[in-house]
Amino acid sequence: MIKSFILPIKELIKGLYTVFKNGFKKRVTLEYPEKKKLLNNNFRGKINYIKENCIKCGICQNVCPLISCIKIDTDFSIDLSQCIFCGNCVENCPKNALYFTKEYELAVNNKEKLILKEDN
Ligand code: SF4
Ligand code: SF4
Repeated sequence: MIKSFILPIKELIKGLYTVFKNGFKKRVTLEYPEKKKLLNNNFRGKINYIKENCIKCGICQNVCPLISCIKIDTDFSIDLSQCIFCGNCVENCPKNALYFTKEYELAVNNKEKLILKEDN
């Protein structure tokens, strides 16, 4: 009888102790999306394409581990819905026509919007 009364009290004290202990620690979370973390310069966000630099050599397409992520026919496009952000295309482009931005909020309601084309 006494044991069934003491046990919940003990757990309650343990819980309050945990709240109290962590209440004074430095916060590790941010009030996203109002506050955002400063990103490292190596962060791999949305890829940008500089049409003027591109010589359509096809190296990016060859080093991409995905078969149909980068298309270079008459127009250049990258399907970000397939991209795994490995960085192969960016690192191997001889003309620096591709680079990573820090843009990471890429949720869309239509996958077509994730196809990065020459004119967007
Ligand atoms: S590797 Fe660079 S220059 Fe070559 S096709 Fe791709 S983006 Fe264009
Ligand atoms: S980052 Fe990797 S997966 Fe994405 S387009 Fe470039 S090579 Fe392909």
